[in-house]
Amino acid sequence: MGKSKGKAKVMKVIDPRRAPPSKTFNCPFCNHEKSVTSKLDKAKRVGTLKCGVCGVQFQCIITSLSAPIDVYGKWIDECETMNNDGDDAAAASDSDADSEVSDL
Ligand SMILES: [Zn+2]
Repeated sequence: MGKSKGKAKVMKVIDPRRAPPSKTFNCPFCNHEKSVTSKLDKAKRVGTLKCGVCGVQFQCIITSLSAPIDVYGKWIDECETMNNDGDDAAAASDSDADSEVSDL
C-alpha cells in the first residue's frame, strides 16, 4: 500500500503576483514614479541607480546574482539608515552608540 506512482508534479510554478523584473523604480528623494533607472555592471560589480528627474545617484557593490531590485532595496535601506542616523546624532551621545556596536 501507499504505492505512489504519481510523481508527475512539475515544480515550475510562476507566481502571477510576481511582476516581471522591473528596472525602473520610484525615487525616494523626489518621489517621482519610475524615474530611477538601474545599471548593473557585473564585470565591475557595481550597481548604479540614477533618478532622471532630480539626478540623485546611488552606487553599491553587487554580486553576479544581484538584481536591480536588490540595489534599489539597498538604497532604500541606506536612506532610512541615514535618516535615523541624523535623528540619533542630535539626541544620543557617541559613547552610547559605541557600546552597542561592540556588543555585536
Ligand atoms: Zn528623484
